[in-house]
Amino acid sequence: MGLAHNHHHHNHGAQTARAAMASVATAAFLILLKSFAAYETGSVALLGSLADTGFDFLASLLTLFSVRYAALPADDDHRFGHGKAEALSALVQVALVTVSAVLIGWRAVVRLGDGQPTEHPEYGIGVSLIAMAATLALLLYQRQVIKETGSVAIHGDHVHYQGDLLLNAAVIVAILLDTFLHLRGADPLFGIAIAVWLLWG
Ligand SMILES: [Zn+2]
Repeated sequence: MGLAHNHHHHNHGAQTARAAMASVATAAFLILLKSFAAYETGSVALLGSLADTGFDFLASLLTLFSVRYAALPADDDHRFGHGKAEALSALVQVALVTVSAVLIGWRAVVRLGDGQPTEHPEYGIGVSLIAMAATLALLLYQRQVIKETGSVAIHGDHVHYQGDLLLNAAVIVAILLDTFLHLRGADPLFGIAIAVWLLWG
C-alpha cells in the first residue's frame, strides 16, 4: 500500500516536470518563429508578442526548476515544503506577466509615433496562426496534467497561455487592419488593449 502511494506521488512529480518542459520547448520554438516574423514584418504588435514569449520562456524555466525542487522528498533540511515552492513560482510568474504587459504597452506607444506600414503581412499572420495552434496544443496538454496533479505552478502557466491565444489573435487582427484597411493606429491600440488585458488577468 505504501509502495503504491509513493509510486503515485513520483508520477505526479514527473508529470508536472514534463508539462513544464513542454512549456519551455513551446516558448523556445515560438521565439524563433516570432523573431523571424517580427524582422520580416516590422510589426511592433508582433514585437510585443515576441517580448511576451521571451518572458514566457523565462517563466517556464522558473516553473520547471520550481516543480523539480517541489518534487524532491521532504527531509530535515527541506522543511520549506513542496506546496510553498510551487506557490512561490506562481507568484513570480504573475510578476513576469505584469512586466510583459508593461513592455507591450510601451511598444504600442512607440508605434503610435511612427507611421511605418507592415511588410510581408503573410509572415506575421502565418506565424501567429502557428503560435495559436502550438499554444492550443500546450493548453490541452496542461489541462490534462492540472486535472491529474493539481499543480499550482502549471496552473499559473496555463492561465498565462490562455491569454496568449488572444494575444496572437489580436496580432493577426492588427496586421489585417493595418494592411488591408490602412488603419495605422490599429497596431498600437491593439497592443495597449492586450497589455491592459494581461495586467487584468
Ligand atoms: Zn505569453
